[in-house]
Amino acid sequence: MLTTHPFDDDRLHEECGVFGVHGSDSAAAIVALGLHALQHRGQEAAGITSYDGREFHTHRAMGHVAGNFDRDDVIRGLGGRIACGHVRYSTTGETALRNVQPLFAELSSGGFAIAHNGNISNAMKLKRELIRRGSIFHCSSDTEVIIHLVATSSYRTLIDRFIDALRQVEGAYSLVVMTPEGMIACRDPLGIRPLVMGRLGDATIFASETVALDVVGAEFVRHVEPGELVIVSDAGAKSVRPFAPTRARPCIFEHVYFSRPDSVADGQSVYSVRKAIGAELARERPVEVDYVIPVPDSGVPAAIGYAQESGVPFELGIIRSHYVGRTFIQPADNIRHLGVKLKHNANRALLSGKRIVLIDDSIVRGTTSIKIVQMMRDAGATEVHMRIASPPTRHSCFYGVDTPERAKLLAARMSVEEMAAHINADSLAFVSVDGLYRALGEGGRSTSPSHCDACFTGDYPTSLTDHDDVAVPDQFALLDERVLA
Ligand code: SF4
Repeated sequence: MLTTHPFDDDRLHEECGVFGVHGSDSAAAIVALGLHALQHRGQEAAGITSYDGREFHTHRAMGHVAGNFDRDDVIRGLGGRIACGHVRYSTTGETALRNVQPLFAELSSGGFAIAHNGNISNAMKLKRELIRRGSIFHCSSDTEVIIHLVATSSYRTLIDRFIDALRQVEGAYSLVVMTPEGMIACRDPLGIRPLVMGRLGDATIFASETVALDVVGAEFVRHVEPGELVIVSDAGAKSVRPFAPTRARPCIFEHVYFSRPDSVADGQSVYSVRKAIGAELARERPVEVDYVIPVPDSGVPAAIGYAQESGVPFELGIIRSHYVGRTFIQPADNIRHLGVKLKHNANRALLSGKRIVLIDDSIVRGTTSIKIVQMMRDAGATEVHMRIASPPTRHSCFYGVDTPERAKLLAARMSVEEMAAHINADSLAFVSVDGLYRALGEGGRSTSPSHCDACFTGDYPTSLTDHDDVAVPDQFALLDERVLA
């Protein structure tokens, strides 16, 4: 297993990030920079496709953007004023170069390249039907289903075929598509995955997060709205809304963990929301300690919020080395442990003899929490409490986020009390679902929630045709959370 840092092996992984440029002589180079800023959304593979007015060019590679797309020869080979790219963390489709996006196909209307963030939750059913009708699939990615639906649609224009295809898919998709006519960016009717639009000189930019606009020097224009298609050609941009209006349900986990803290997600600063979650946590689950310690790096904003609200000093009890690159985590536990020490070390002089509360963003399997708590105890902390800036993750995600099967989620197997004993913490508590919504500026979770929160509540906002075995949602379990003294 290849991860960016050892603590990542017990995190939810965002499946993908997408980036597109229409109307720049440096289109591919800008896409490469944009993908670099979105690297946290997918570290398994990256790809860029460009169109030079006559031909499409594609380069795809396993691994990071840096090292693959910072080479002159690669960028020179991706000519043209229009390009799109993708970073990937695999959930659907095995790890193989042929699954790396953008995917490309020659259709009757010409070339068609597609980069997808999300997951089609009825892809298996559609694929079976398409294969029965004669379609031949080249990879195991759910995204290829969209290509075949476009290819086999009986509508005349490409846009109508594309809309016809999207009307048949369920689940989450933020797409950037390239054709000889230009670029199409779109978001599923619920807007589960993010997508923003920017401008750089005369060029139109699309990106999964605003941070990628910042990094390439583009100005933020607006979010692509849920259910909207933005169609960009040399004649300009136009917006189409082919779906019946519905209440959007963007992914709440973007605010908790996925998005970079310097992004703005659906109009809200991710950093500010994370601090507000930390403040909620301090109000809901106070504890008498000497220091508030963040689990780096994703726990930092919530820990700042917790410290400011509680008045307990914020200190760095875990020091991260910035000079350790990618770490190959060996499967053997003793080698894994070495990997953790290489990248993160306890600040022994600070921790010795102190009572601390660790702030982390989430607990998935619990393996990382066990190591961190032990690391704090080994460094001399006399009490180690843990507070989590999200509710317990009790359900799998079917919308493009790599969650383990439900049986491997610690919170699906254990009560909060059992989890605390399992990770050997003096106390453990999670922010409530209502607290999470309050951090977003709402009064709490309403009966018609503003976000997808299914991994906490089991309330999936779409049908899950390919996942009929999903357990019946158990929202009442959330009422049983208790602080352990
Ligand atoms: S299930 Fe969780 S991670 Fe998946 S889209 Fe919904 S809130 Fe996000």
